[in-house]
Amino acid sequence: MRQGIFFVVSAPSGTGKTTLCRLVQQRIENLHFTVSYTTRERRANEVDGREYHFVSRERFEEMIAAGDFAEHANVYGNWYGTSLSELEVQRRAGRDLLIEIDVQGARAIKERFPESVLIFIHPPSFEVLRERLEGRGTDQPEVIERRLRVAAEELALMSTYDYLIENQELETACGDFGAVIQAERLRVGHVLPAVRERFPGILS
Ligand code: 5GP
Repeated sequence: MRQGIFFVVSAPSGTGKTTLCRLVQQRIENLHFTVSYTTRERRANEVDGREYHFVSRERFEEMIAAGDFAEHANVYGNWYGTSLSELEVQRRAGRDLLIEIDVQGARAIKERFPESVLIFIHPPSFEVLRERLEGRGTDQPEVIERRLRVAAEELALMSTYDYLIENQELETACGDFGAVIQAERLRVGHVLPAVRERFPGILS
């Protein structure tokens, strides 16, 4: 059996990453979300162990000291970390993973697991992102300005990713995302072990 592939997905806040990833995960078989650890407050619609494992700062620090994280980062003042054992167990089980993390985390995962596939989801333009964040009507202007400043820094790093997906229209973006996953799954290194036995004496 082949090893699982890590699809690391980053996007600035307001890009629709979560909606897109949920849709892709529903449509494509053998694609699983990792559940990160975080010190941020649980939101009303979130369930511990589903969106995140919600832990105290003390517990998070213990986990850092124990080497439990493949990467961890401070995002908007809260700590987030990806469990190293979860990645290793899932990979060995041949399960492909969607790892939704910020740009710092993506870089760290790529360094640790160079065969990871880095996907960046971007809005059609910076203006569209501003309109989307303002249109939510949930955040104060200074919060929106802060998010836009962070978004600009994140967008500047998109050139370091393997794939760029524009999220203008959800269905189109979902199709593009699926194409990336399919192409990566068809890489010779992933397919060859299964094909080899069908060509005995021909493929060594
Ligand atoms: P939120 O708190 O809105 O769910 O996520 C805030 C940001 O933290 C998002 O950019 C999300 O991708 C990022 N994030 C979530 N989990 C992790 C993680 O385990 N590691 C890193 N580095 N970032 C994460």
